[in-house]
Order: sequence, then structure tokens, then C-alpha cells
Amino acid sequence: MFLNSRTESKELLKFRSLNARSTLSTKEKKHYLHLEKGYQGEVMFDQLTAKLENDLYILNGLYLEYNNAACQIDSLIISEETIYPFEIKNFEGDYLYELERFYFLPAKEEIKNPLDQLKRSNSLLRPLLKKQGINLPVEGSVTFVNPGFTLYQAPLNEPIISPTQLHQLMKKLNKTSSKLNGRHKKLADQLLAMHLVESPYAWKPIYTYGKLKKGILCPRCYSFMISIGDKKLVCSKCGCEESVDSGVLRSVKEHKLLFPDLKITTIGVHEWCRVVGSTKVVRRILFENFTASGYGRWFYFE
Ligand SMILES: [Zn+2]
Repeated sequence: MFLNSRTESKELLKFRSLNARSTLSTKEKKHYLHLEKGYQGEVMFDQLTAKLENDLYILNGLYLEYNNAACQIDSLIISEETIYPFEIKNFEGDYLYELERFYFLPAKEEIKNPLDQLKRSNSLLRPLLKKQGINLPVEGSVTFVNPGFTLYQAPLNEPIISPTQLHQLMKKLNKTSSKLNGRHKKLADQLLAMHLVESPYAWKPIYTYGKLKKGILCPRCYSFMISIGDKKLVCSKCGCEESVDSGVLRSVKEHKLLFPDLKITTIGVHEWCRVVGSTKVVRRILFENFTASGYGRWFYFE
């Protein structure tokens, strides 16, 4: 049973928006594509765990801080007798494991060791469980979900699950006898309550309102949409259609994410969305969906 649904991180949403509205540096672009790919991998993993029928709690995407340590757990499964944190990787291509290090082939470029990331979540979870009086083993693993991934010299003594073992893993999780009780629920609730809104490792890109391209981004391919009359938007790239109301509301959300300190005003949203012909339409949408505050020049929506 999923106790929370996975959503894109604020960091990914910001980068996705900035990628469409500005030119990212090579480093930023690389990081952005890495985030998109990582998220796709997590969604792939969720599609598998969604099919589990056993009595399990599944927590998707946790950012935790405890005892001055921070960690990100991509997926956490609580069974009656074991806690399973998963570090999910959507790596593609050939990799090599050598002397406790991971390399991307053929250039043999060293990458961050995903086992270290797993160790971090294990060492954060153990004292946390202890404090709750829960005496369950933590069995984390680094799980590679992309079928195009190969790890040469994969160590047998490390908790690594390769794409060809995923099926077996799900079978195991489904077969282990598990009967959850109130203590498991309490632990799950506690973890969800501790969950931070933003990853402690999130990159903070630098951008300014004036330099970003204005317009409404397509919800499917993130290209700019054009308006057809007063009510409809169409993506010029993929043909996706949407009502003006829904496009404006999405854009307001994006505006809030990028500029949490800027107030939402009719003029501001009209400029941000660019393709909505009249300010009257924007004003109506804002009135229908937000609470108006202030007077005259200081009139805004929240
Ligand atoms: Zn599109």
C-alpha cells in the first residue's frame, strides 16, 4: 500500500522550467537531465511496487534529517519484520565496479558511489528506529532499474539489485509473510511527518525574472503553447491541447515555485503567461481560484 504518492521534486520542477525558459549552462543541463532520468527511474520502480499485494507500507521519495544527518530515500518499504530502503538508479550503459568504486565506461569516468548514499540512509534510519523502540533490521539496496544497464565485476557481497533481478525482488517482497500493526503505522506516519519539502541536496540555480522567456509551457513536452481564441491552448510541438484556465493555473504555480516572494497580480500573470489575449480573462481566472487581498496598487491574489 502506497502511503504517499510520488511527485517531482521542487528541484526538478525548477530546472524543468528554467531549461525551457532560459539557456542552462552545460553543468546545469547535465544535472537537469540527470534529475529527469532519476525521476523516470523512480516511477518505473513504483509501477512494480504498486502491484505488490502483501501487507506492506510503501513510502515514496523521503527527504529526512535526523541527528544532524540528512538523507534521501527513493523508496522505503516497511514489512512486518524488515525495513527496506531503496536507492533507485536509472543508469543506462556499461559501468564497472572496481575497488569499491563505480566507473562509467568506456571512458572510465568515476561516478558517485550509490552504495555510499545507501549507507547514509541506513545510518540515519537505525538510530531513528531505535528511538521509536522499533527493533527491526534495515535491509537497504541499490536498485538499478534500467534494462539497458550493465555492471561489470558487480560485487556479490554488496546489496546491489540489477534490472534482471527486479522480478525476483518483487516476488520476494510479495511472498515474505507480513502482518503490519499499529507500531508499523506509527513509524510510517512519523517518517512522513519528518519528510522535508525539499531535498537537502538540492542545487539552487540562480535566475532572474527579467531574463526568463515568458509564456505557458506544454504540460507534456515543456515547449511553449500558443492560444487558439480565448479558451484553448495548443502546443506547437506535440499538439497537446489544454484550456486557457488550466494553463494559466499551472503557470501561476510555476511562477510561485520560481519566485515565492513575488505577489500574484493580474498584470504579473498576464505578462508571465504572455499568450492570453486579455487581462480580463486572467483576472477572472485569478478571482475564481484565489483569494484577493489588498487594495488598488497593492491588490494581489493568494
Ligand atoms: Zn507539447
